[in-house]
Amino acid sequence: MSAVVWLKRDLRWRDHAPLAAAAAHEGAIALYVIEPAWLASPTFDPQHLAFALASLGELRAQLAARGLPLLVRVGDAVTVLAQLRVEHPYRFLLSHEETGEGWTYARDRAVSAWCRTQGVAWLEWPQTGVVRRLRQRDGWAARWNARMDAPEVSMPQGFCGGRADLDDLPTLAALGVASPRPLPAAGEAAAWTVLNDFLGGRGRDYRRALSSPLTAAEGCSRLSPHLAFGTVSMRCVHQATEATIAHTDDRALAHALRGFAGRLRWHCHFMQKLEDEPAIEERNFARAYDGLRESDFNRERFEAWCEGRTGFPMVDACMRSLRATGWLNFRMRAMLVSFAAYHLWLHWREPGQFLARQFLDYEPGIHWSQMQMQSGTTGINTLRIYSPGKQAADHDPQGVFIRRWLPEFGTPAYPKPIVDERAALAFAKERLYALRATPEARAEADAVQQRHGSRKAGLPPTTRRARARKVADEAPAQQDLFR
Ligand SMILES: Cc1cc2nc3c(=O)[nH]c(=O)nc-3n(C[C@H](O)[C@H](O)[C@H](O)COP(=O)(O)OP(=O)(O)OC[C@H]3O[C@@H](n4cnc5c(N)ncnc54)[C@H](O)[C@@H]3O)c2cc1C
Repeated sequence: MSAVVWLKRDLRWRDHAPLAAAAAHEGAIALYVIEPAWLASPTFDPQHLAFALASLGELRAQLAARGLPLLVRVGDAVTVLAQLRVEHPYRFLLSHEETGEGWTYARDRAVSAWCRTQGVAWLEWPQTGVVRRLRQRDGWAARWNARMDAPEVSMPQGFCGGRADLDDLPTLAALGVASPRPLPAAGEAAAWTVLNDFLGGRGRDYRRALSSPLTAAEGCSRLSPHLAFGTVSMRCVHQATEATIAHTDDRALAHALRGFAGRLRWHCHFMQKLEDEPAIEERNFARAYDGLRESDFNRERFEAWCEGRTGFPMVDACMRSLRATGWLNFRMRAMLVSFAAYHLWLHWREPGQFLARQFLDYEPGIHWSQMQMQSGTTGINTLRIYSPGKQAADHDPQGVFIRRWLPEFGTPAYPKPIVDERAALAFAKERLYALRATPEARAEADAVQQRHGSRKAGLPPTTRRARARKVADEAPAQQDLFR
């Protein structure tokens, strides 16, 4: 009985359960669908498609060498799957689970319904630590460890793949998509080069380097686009990291990599929130915050923020750097969002869509959770208001980064601050602290903590019960992230 492997955010050969399973099926085919709903979504950017296509080019050659054709089709998933079934009758659809945006969730429901009516068995495998249909968060970290410590999937030598004419991969121009900004190397080989380089020594300075935009680009792993597009599996990254920690004689490197290893858990911890509550992409974690900022949205301020002309040099330099490169370190991402949320009093949804387009590594589960955390709408996290001036003093004391990205800084061409910082923050704090003190907000905070709060991964707990559960060895990860 034949099978189709439906590739999504898993564009690799190694540690790939659906591809491994396809070896048992005669006439198997791999498929990647470029969906119009993706191209039309407000978080889509040409860089995302360019990275996917470049990764697919490499994977297609890998699979062809083993006898498995990889088709790349454009269209709505159900239509493409139905058409393919006419050309290559198949009984099994094999894929990884995806924790995506609302449109992928709706698409998966439609595919599932179609499979049922067609008698196609759709088998899905997890590829991260995210647990489907999780009943409760207790014990989540132990499950993450068990999954990530399990042996990686052993891949077959070859396939009895189906016969298929492989068209050239579609070009961005043919898809009506604009040229992207310059990209880092895509694909599985590039993912391993980045990982090996980081574990081989580049990561030694990780803990010191990750906060400053001057040092983070080199000192952080830069694996995020590869994890987002699945050109390397989380399990492989985890196991390679643990093996380096266990075997290296370089104590500084081992210490740095322990900090990095913690971040890998965070990746899945945040994605789990979206998996458990898909609506957080659109609405506040804590409903008591509904209406807080929505009607005050000031488009001029928003545009100044997007274009890096707020008159706050660290904010503007970070935004311009991000727009040029598609990447920014964690702290500066958090500062940009905090500035939008508190200084500019902007609701997080449109800034979040804008940032998703700028980040090559856009990962919905991490992104929307972080957008809300940094905007103060989860109800469970301490308000973290970043001062752009302090961030500049701490992380760019000589103004090197600022001058690099704001050549007009210090000249009359550079704008004056668009808001009075003191007044803006007084307003924001007054509104938020008043809301947080209400009995409704307090009651809801407990419920959000129970459903989404970290039990082990290092999130700052807010309820007394959760605080009591914290374990001492989580502290370093938390400090690094939230100074
Ligand atoms: C507002 C906001 C939005 C964000 N959106 C995204 C996003 O769309 N995609 C994304 O991958 N990361 C996102 N992050 C988290 C973080 O900034 C990036 O993962 C990190 O900067 C990527 O660079 P790196 O791979 O070199 O990270 P490293 O520091 O080398 O970390 C290794 C990996 O750990 C994971 N990780 C690191 N920090 C975090 C974190 N705080 N939360 C969850 N996972 C983490 C990522 O998978 C990352 O690739 C966001 C952070 C903020 C504040």
